[in-house]
Amino acid sequence: MKAAATRAGFVAIVGAPNAGKSTLVNALVGAKVSIVSPKVQTTRMRVIGIAMTDLADGTRAQVVLVDTPGIFRVARRRLERAMVAAAWQGAEDADAVALVVDAERGAGEETRAIMEKLRSSRARRHLVLNKIDLVPREKLLALTAELNTLLPFDRTFMVSALRHDGIADVLAALAEGLPAGPFLYPEDQAADLPMRLLAAEVTREQVFLQLHQELPYEAAVETDKWEERTDSSVRIEQTIHVQREGQRAIVLGKGGTRIKQIGARARQELGRMLERPVHLFLHVKVSARWAEDPAHYRAIGLDYEP
Ligand code: GDP
Ligand code: MG
Repeated sequence: MKAAATRAGFVAIVGAPNAGKSTLVNALVGAKVSIVSPKVQTTRMRVIGIAMTDLADGTRAQVVLVDTPGIFRVARRRLERAMVAAAWQGAEDADAVALVVDAERGAGEETRAIMEKLRSSRARRHLVLNKIDLVPREKLLALTAELNTLLPFDRTFMVSALRHDGIADVLAALAEGLPAGPFLYPEDQAADLPMRLLAAEVTREQVFLQLHQELPYEAAVETDKWEERTDSSVRIEQTIHVQREGQRAIVLGKGGTRIKQIGARARQELGRMLERPVHLFLHVKVSARWAEDPAHYRAIGLDYEP
């Protein structure tokens, strides 16, 4: 008997901020792995989602989605430069690239700049017009024609990531385009790595939201432990890294009130995403060299480029 054939590969999700990339990744994966937020630029690292799907001919496919953060952020700091480089690297290494465009806003400067970059990429290119729930059909057809004239795409999809409209077609097309070969990640890990990254991102977002005036871009968060407990709750331990002792005091707050508040909000958010109780333990550590240490870039999925 022949074993079921498999396909696997990487698909880079690119697009202007707020186009709906994270929402699309979540819809494709079918579980929440990436932060969705109305604010611009909450995603700091390459968060990957892994979508598993079966093709009509019985082939099983693993689509590894690379969510690309901050391509257009002005990269002053080393960490930011690493992020921008990682974003482009992700697009270049991928088997396919999906450009997500907010169909209501149309193609702005950022989308056009991305299209210029994609012109030289050898990966299969797909155009995903998102938020079609907000736009009349004529406008979609005009936008499809306009963008395909600027840069021809292999396929164009019209979806509402928010309403899961048209998502199955996108997933099938992405999966069909992947090379035949074994899965890149063990199936049971498909959730774990993104969840650790996600959990760190949730806490980092709280640090940022609650302290951005006092602590601009200074903190980084790592998930040290992730323990599934028999009562179906999750125990998560994380370290918030800051660069100086004074910043540690800021994160802790008077009598530990600030860190409590950060932990409470992050725990709430995580519980909602994971749909089960979360026990969250936060440590604050002064890691003066954190922002300059290559090992930490790799730990969060970035390449270090001095
Ligand atoms: P990203 O910055 O590209 O990752 O965009 P997000 O996924 O964070 O989405 C940005 C905003 O657009 C959020 O408020 C989403 O809820 C919203 N959004 C995403 N997809 C859709 C959609 O299909 N329809 C509508 N109406 N809103 C959407
Ligand atoms: Mg996003």
